[in-house]
Amino acid sequence: MNFDWTAEDLDFKNRIAALFDRESLPALEALERAELPELKATTGAFLKRLAETGYLALGLGPAAAAETLHLMAGQEEVARISGCLFLAVETTVRLFGGLLKGFGEPDRVRDILEPLLRGEIIASVAVSEPAGNEPGISRTLAREDGDSFVLNGRKSFATNGPIADYLAVTGEVDGLLAVFLVEPQMAGVSVGPRLQTLGYNGIAVSSLELTAVRVPRSRVLGPFRDTKALEWLRQIDNLVLTVASVGLMYRTLREAKEHASGHVRDGKAVGKHQEVRFKLAEMLTLAQTAQLLAYRTAWLHATADAEAATLIHCAKVFSAEASERVASLAMQIAAGEAYLSGNLVERGYRDAKYAAIAGTTSELARMAIAQDLLNLYRV
Ligand SMILES: Cc1cc2nc3c(=O)[nH]c(=O)nc-3n(C[C@H](O)[C@H](O)[C@H](O)COP(=O)(O)OP(=O)(O)OC[C@H]3O[C@@H](n4cnc5c(N)ncnc54)[C@H](O)[C@@H]3O)c2cc1C
Repeated sequence: MNFDWTAEDLDFKNRIAALFDRESLPALEALERAELPELKATTGAFLKRLAETGYLALGLGPAAAAETLHLMAGQEEVARISGCLFLAVETTVRLFGGLLKGFGEPDRVRDILEPLLRGEIIASVAVSEPAGNEPGISRTLAREDGDSFVLNGRKSFATNGPIADYLAVTGEVDGLLAVFLVEPQMAGVSVGPRLQTLGYNGIAVSSLELTAVRVPRSRVLGPFRDTKALEWLRQIDNLVLTVASVGLMYRTLREAKEHASGHVRDGKAVGKHQEVRFKLAEMLTLAQTAQLLAYRTAWLHATADAEAATLIHCAKVFSAEASERVASLAMQIAAGEAYLSGNLVERGYRDAKYAAIAGTTSELARMAIAQDLLNLYRV
């Protein structure tokens, strides 16, 4: 078994890493405090820079799964630098762009997809709905009316919602799944105010209200006879969250390591103490394990292996929970300094809770893993 990146992967990683030079880092740092216009401008600027490396065009749609491992080589670099930028970019490109590429009719979505791949569009994907009793694919419902669909419903969360040029909204037409591409300025579309979140403060999240929104047929993916688009979306979302967790672990580990080496107490760097070293050792072990599982998962996905769906859940659960533990250990090492608001470790600690909640929650992912284990696996 060979775990080395290919020369092509390494070159790609280096080109991505080179985008984040000294001059660009303050803008990323400022994302955490940025108001919407600045957030939109910074996200847009980095989308354009990433487009030049070919990053945006990779792995879009089920047909491009073969690129997953190569893509992950680049994704790691972005996720290590800025979790917020990473989530905003991946939502735009891999989720929204991937839906269009994989499930849209090329002639109908070309006018969105082409500028999106040039980094000129920010997009959002809204699936989650407020809690309720009615079962079904979605309580966002549409009916056909001439050459368009009339859409009504409510979405509870949309990452990039307040800065999006386009939003892909899942809904139901006569019991069938469809995806509606709406623009914030369309009549009946109401993007809620930016929600205040515990972590990832440099992304803009909102709710979304749809009241008799008339969506032309050319802006509707489906209706589909199955729910493959939704399943694909969940898998990609979970892969993205896995890489985000790995990136977060290395960010907080780097801070903890620097603190352990540079912070002197009673004449001794705190990293000289075994109690601190054991924490660092556990952090690296968790980060490395999560990273390896992420690579294996990406490889299974890239080779269309039957185990890929199960491993995506395993990797997402493990990396999410490992990132919480790593962030907590980093805070213990950097102690009082890390507890101050705005510190990178403090941010990492708050960010870390997100991955277990977002996408497929850890509870639902565990249930799916157990189901697969009992039905499919020979162990
Ligand atoms: C900052 C932020 C950004 C987000 N961005 C987006 C976005 O861009 N697009 C989008 O579509 N969504 C988005 N979401 C929504 C996110 O994906 C959901 O919060 C997540 O899927 C969990 O759904 P929920 O909050 O409704 O929890 P619920 O589904 O209500 O679950 C509540 C609890 O019950 C557990 N539970 C639920 N059902 C079961 C079951 N059958 N068995 C056992 N346990 C169960 C869950 O695991 C969880 O612990 C975002 C959320 C946040 C916080």
